[in-house]
Amino acid sequence: MYEFDYHRATSLDDAASRLGDADAKLVAGGMTLIPTLKMRLAKPSQLVDLGAIPALKGISEDGNAIVIGAMTRHAEVNRSAVVKRAIPALAALAGMIGDPAVRNRGTIGGSIANNDPAADYPAAVVALDAVVRTNKREIAADSFFTGLFETALGEGEIVTGVRFAKPQAANYQKFKNPASRYAIVGVFVARSAAGVRVAVTGAGPCVFRVPAMEAALARSFTADAIKDIQIPQDGLNSDIHASAEYRAHLVNVMARRAVAACG
Ligand SMILES: Cc1cc2nc3c(=O)[nH]c(=O)nc-3n(C[C@H](O)[C@H](O)[C@H](O)COP(=O)(O)OP(=O)(O)OC[C@H]3O[C@@H](n4cnc5c(N)ncnc54)[C@H](O)[C@@H]3O)c2cc1C
Repeated sequence: MYEFDYHRATSLDDAASRLGDADAKLVAGGMTLIPTLKMRLAKPSQLVDLGAIPALKGISEDGNAIVIGAMTRHAEVNRSAVVKRAIPALAALAGMIGDPAVRNRGTIGGSIANNDPAADYPAAVVALDAVVRTNKREIAADSFFTGLFETALGEGEIVTGVRFAKPQAANYQKFKNPASRYAIVGVFVARSAAGVRVAVTGAGPCVFRVPAMEAALARSFTADAIKDIQIPQDGLNSDIHASAEYRAHLVNVMARRAVAACG
């Protein structure tokens, strides 16, 4: 039996005030949380639904950046004219997540707060050097994802949105699990005035950058510049879908494809 109270919050303060109870859980799209409840892997005393808080929804331009509200669904990011114009690779990434049902329910806030090792958005957030906004502070991408399903979010902290600066060029390449579409390996490459960033998802327990590729691409932004850079297999994921050795190989292949696609 499920035993929890359900509360549909009407404001951020309302939602935050409910999180005083250590067993309370936020629910966004429910695409990860509901299966977790069904498998009895979580037993919250209260579910706090973020779906009726207007401040968490929508996509806007902010100077040389775009801001995506935490409750914006993957399908909305994929279809957004603003995102397609500013960061087409981000719109394309959102369109690669799961299936239509997942994309029409799942949200960017839920995805990054969950920090699944095979999720797509963490690669974009890190490669684009985005800033995660919460009800308490702003967190730089490099500090946000801290480990397997772990983030820098504290008790009672709610993701309110993500601010992405527009890059000069960016691309995301994913070698997907054919059943779930989660990334076996996904590589997001972004070039901006500050340099080049390469972020990898799916390969390890948490999204990570590849400094050797970033340095090589800063010198020469060509796929050839990174063809000999292999990442170590140690610490990479190894499961029924792919060995650590195969994942290490895929990182190089996906990175070169992403650079080539940047044009
Ligand atoms: C069949 C299937 C295939 C999928 N394929 C992919 C894929 O290819 N790529 C991919 O990236 N993902 C994939 N997903 C995951 C999907 O993207 C989910 O949408 C995402 O993981 C969670 O988002 P959600 O909005 O549904 O969050 P929920 O399930 O509602 O919440 C997830 C967690 O985040 C917390 N949370 C939610 N919102 C916030 C917030 N604003 N602030 C703080 N904490 C919050 C919740 O308390 C919960 O712990 C797949 C899911 C399914 C079921």
